[in-house]
Amino acid sequence: MEIVYDVVIIGGGMAGLTAAIRLGQAGLRVAIVSRGDPIVCLSTGCIDVLASGENPLEGVEKLPENHPYHLVDREFIKEALNHFLSVVKEEGLPYDGTWEKNRKVLTPLGVGKTTCLVPETMVASTADGEARLHVISFAGLKDFYPGYILARMPASDLSVLEMGRVSTMSLASRFETEEFLDFFLSWLKSTDIKADLIALPAVLGWQKAPAIKDRLEDELRRPVFEIPTLPPSVPGIRLHRALVRKALRLGTQFYRGRPISTVEKAAQLVEAVTLESPGRPIRVNGRAFILATGSFVGGGLISHRSGVEEVVFHLPVSYPVDRMNWFGEKFLPPEHPIEEAGILVDGEFRPKNTDLENLFVAGSILAHSRVLRYGCGHGLAIVTGEAAASSCLRYLKWQAEGDTCSKTA
Ligand SMILES: Cc1cc2nc3c(=O)[nH]c(=O)nc-3n(C[C@H](O)[C@H](O)[C@H](O)COP(=O)(O)OP(=O)(O)OC[C@H]3O[C@@H](n4cnc5c(N)ncnc54)[C@H](O)[C@@H]3O)c2cc1C
Repeated sequence: MEIVYDVVIIGGGMAGLTAAIRLGQAGLRVAIVSRGDPIVCLSTGCIDVLASGENPLEGVEKLPENHPYHLVDREFIKEALNHFLSVVKEEGLPYDGTWEKNRKVLTPLGVGKTTCLVPETMVASTADGEARLHVISFAGLKDFYPGYILARMPASDLSVLEMGRVSTMSLASRFETEEFLDFFLSWLKSTDIKADLIALPAVLGWQKAPAIKDRLEDELRRPVFEIPTLPPSVPGIRLHRALVRKALRLGTQFYRGRPISTVEKAAQLVEAVTLESPGRPIRVNGRAFILATGSFVGGGLISHRSGVEEVVFHLPVSYPVDRMNWFGEKFLPPEHPIEEAGILVDGEFRPKNTDLENLFVAGSILAHSRVLRYGCGHGLAIVTGEAAASSCLRYLKWQAEGDTCSKTA
């Protein structure tokens, strides 16, 4: 007999995983169908709620009326972010910060990135040009350029450990072993550290990263922090893995790496999606569905000569109609109107201009999100993932009550 999930989530990024965790905690049977790794694996791992201004939560009020943050109230945003903080803490990846204050974390280019919730391994991060850092690098490591940092923070020093050809991912795995950590610590102690802070690329292991950072701080008697590197990013992958672990623990079934070939609908309901598979296609049935396939980078939207398309349900997409108006003059700051593209939803996160009752939408695929323009990537995905999950719960409850009524009648 085929399983019928309570909720099938299409897309396993920040939005889809957040929704899965909330629904799993409510005791629902959840499946995630996801084609590939989400953008969080390329990200710094820091949670941008709104990068413009000092107070992200206050800044939300000033966003244009059509921004999806306005579909929920301030209390909901706080609860959603609080829930995120408790989930990652339970998974051994504690975060620090508040949605009421932005901060700067140092990037490999020596400049500060504005964000508000940071992994504990970045708590001491500073982009202050006057700061005295002892920067550690690894010879043979691509994707990390300490020269930029030293040029912008001239009071800082550099030590380089000879390692042969390494990547951030392979270094993170080495840091998880006691032998390598002991060797690294004895090398570090042999360098002449005068600076107040120690900064190194984000490679301090996977699940053990917070403990490894604590050990370095204890033995070197000064704050240590990680600098996020170019993709693939270890802190981004750590965050993704922590959320996947949590979802698995709650019983979420993952269907990974397979594109959706067909969608089955009956009247106003989506009933199933079918996944391509080398044998026979896999049918994933659900009572409700959440679309969280991301924007252009995630693959949820594609553009072609005739316009912009949503690839799974072929929902109506809102976008600037004239192609000549899709892009701005400058690459940065990102003022490209095509960033407005996405799915318009009602207050329950159901797609507008369709009659589908059991489909909800979350994350960067929402119209007018403008994630790059406003610096609200993971924050918006977390908040709208929670909101779509809440709408799904209300819908399924309402349905169950309707069923009970019709059975009693
Ligand atoms: C390079 C880069 C760095 C960033 N860094 C940060 C940062 O440091 N902090 C921050 O807050 N924000 C950052 N952002 C923004 C942030 O990553 C995203 O806005 C947010 O994570 C989007 O989450 P999402 O769940 O909506 O979508 P996505 O992460 O795009 O996830 C969509 C998922 O759906 C899957 N999918 C797509 N199409 C299909 C299909 N047809 N069938 C099945 N599955 C499908 C994809 O494979 C993917 O797993 C960054 C963005 C980029 C591009």
